[in-house]
Amino acid sequence: MHVLSLNSLSGSLPDLLASGASGASSLVINLAYLIAASLFIFGLKQMSHPRTARRGNFLSAVGMLVAIVVTLRDREIVGYGTIIAGLLVGSAAGLVLAVRVKMTSMPQMVGLLNGFGGLASATVALAEFLKVYYDPNRDPRIDTLVTICLSALIGGVTFSGSITAFGKLEGWKIQGQSLSRPITFPRQHALNALLLLLTVGLSWLIVRNYEASLWAVALLYLLSLALGVLVVVPIGGADMPVVISLLNSYSGLAAMTTGFVLDNYCLIVTGSLVGASGIILTKIMCTAMNRSLLNVVAGGFGTGEMAAGAVPGAGGDVVVRRMDAEEAVMVLESASSVIIVPGYGMAVAQAQHAVAELAAALNKRGVNCRFAIHPVAGRMPGHMNVLLAEANVPYELLADLSINSEFEQCDVALVIGANDVVNPAARSNPSSPIFGMPIFNVDKARTVMVCKRSMNPGFAGIENELFTCPNCVMLFGDAKSVVGDLVKQLAGGH
Ligand code: NDP
Repeated sequence: MHVLSLNSLSGSLPDLLASGASGASSLVINLAYLIAASLFIFGLKQMSHPRTARRGNFLSAVGMLVAIVVTLRDREIVGYGTIIAGLLVGSAAGLVLAVRVKMTSMPQMVGLLNGFGGLASATVALAEFLKVYYDPNRDPRIDTLVTICLSALIGGVTFSGSITAFGKLEGWKIQGQSLSRPITFPRQHALNALLLLLTVGLSWLIVRNYEASLWAVALLYLLSLALGVLVVVPIGGADMPVVISLLNSYSGLAAMTTGFVLDNYCLIVTGSLVGASGIILTKIMCTAMNRSLLNVVAGGFGTGEMAAGAVPGAGGDVVVRRMDAEEAVMVLESASSVIIVPGYGMAVAQAQHAVAELAAALNKRGVNCRFAIHPVAGRMPGHMNVLLAEANVPYELLADLSINSEFEQCDVALVIGANDVVNPAARSNPSSPIFGMPIFNVDKARTVMVCKRSMNPGFAGIENELFTCPNCVMLFGDAKSVVGDLVKQLAGGH
């Protein structure tokens, strides 16, 4: 098996040069892979800050272009004409998706892309197995067979798991039952463990005697697909972001194992980068949700008494205080500090520009107005940051959970389209399914204003007792129009 290191690339230089034209071409290919891998690493580094993220994205895209063209030429699979045609078709499809898919549907799209990554890896592994199976002259190395099995297993789990996650986020229904809710049944984890053991057993059979194992390969694929579905179905509610980033990491691992199957350095590096960054993101999301990864994967989140369907507020039997824009502006103008907490509703309403205008207008009047960004606000990691950056909100105004201690001294906490991330039940109600998840303590502010359209719950499908707190007032309506009214009123008053 090839072990990737810079040494392995540079160490082969004399051999490559000694072997003439084909050696020189291998050198060029390896150097191109090295450049592509470096571009991925620099791109990732730059993506870690909003200011440099666009450049990071561009660098990584250039790296991917280099890797694709070089691989296709290296393997002499197709000619340049076909490569260019493929690039044009792929770029057109990417452009259409980028323009048409709404920001609020990004998790679904990421889920699908993860799934396709897993499918590609599993398919390549199958093709490689069939090659050695039908070619009597091939004598596959053990490591090739091992990585084929790993690629099939991880790729299969990633594909079916991602499609299941997509269905959950899209709210698919099976026999009238929403897939979004956690689906649990007795001995579920024992069944998953048994399936995993069976896949290991089948892999052992395939590695030992691949010539007689076509049936085992077919079964390995079937079990991997079943395992992907079974691992994801019990997960629901506010845990979905963790699952999406975990599947993202799996898609990287699947690509990495496929890289070993094909002896392709670039795929190994790219897969490792995706796998490692996915795991890091998963860890960050778990910390943000105050949950262990095991706890998330064990599932069942949102099956408590207060899960969807048992939302007293949705029935209209709860008394809340309303305020109109004129009154709200009077409170805001007399405040010395305001913390805005944006959430998914701001993204749905595309209210980020109005919100940015409001913050600028308040700051101009001497009100200290900042933003509190929850790590899982919206529907993808960094969702709020991206929207506020698009509306040119200065980064210095954005704070994370560390702002929590300041709510007690804050005059107004203005919640715009956020719900789960400000639900005090996470802090105070042990029977709540989101108990333990860190939230913004907006209820501690002198006044809380919540802008949303109705008493409907957020993503986790649970009641929010914040709305009935004595210091809370509701600004009912679409976030863009409500915040737009606030901006107008503020401008009109002066
Ligand atoms: P929530 O989903 O909890 O709540 C959003 C609120 O926005 C709803 O209560 C809704 O109420 C309101 N809303 C919707 N449309 C509008 C509109 N046009 N104008 C005003 N309000 C609107 O959002 P949060 O951001 O608080 O929490 C995110 C949730 O999503 C968490 O549970 C998180 O785990 C989950 N999640 C996060 C992902 C991530 O990576 N960030 C990925 C997947 C899930 P109403 O209908 O009454 O207007």
